[in-house]
Amino acid sequence: MDSNSNQEDYLCPSYLSKPGAELFAYVAEGQLQYLNETVVIDKTFTEAAKKGRSPESRFRFAGKCIKGGCAQWDNGNSACGLSNKLINAVTPQTLEATLQHCAIRAKCRWFAQNGAAACGVCSESVRNMEEAFITS
Ligand code: SF4
Repeated sequence: MDSNSNQEDYLCPSYLSKPGAELFAYVAEGQLQYLNETVVIDKTFTEAAKKGRSPESRFRFAGKCIKGGCAQWDNGNSACGLSNKLINAVTPQTLEATLQHCAIRAKCRWFAQNGAAACGVCSESVRNMEEAFITS
């Protein structure tokens, strides 16, 4: 599944809200709504997004996957452990979700690793779900 010739360029679809991150989707009624193109966010956006619920629970951001610099990186399998955990936690129906347009898919670490199953998880999950794994 890994067809990107330069793994260093893969994006993490679970990036934090910080200047330079790429906004690629937002949550509406519990579902992700994908932007046609990513929007690079700036300090003005991040400051405004801090008001109310956490920005990561309302928006999805992408940024460079830092591999071994991330606590979720699985050194043994040279893969993102978070993507695998999320896929293992959801129902098969969710994994069979129809692929929607996603502006980061071609460079997404999760898609490169797990294909459409990763997209099914991404479209259903919000940051809070991921945080359950990050903190466990
Ligand atoms: S290892 Fe996974 S969670 Fe960590 S930066 Fe890469 S894609 Fe994101």
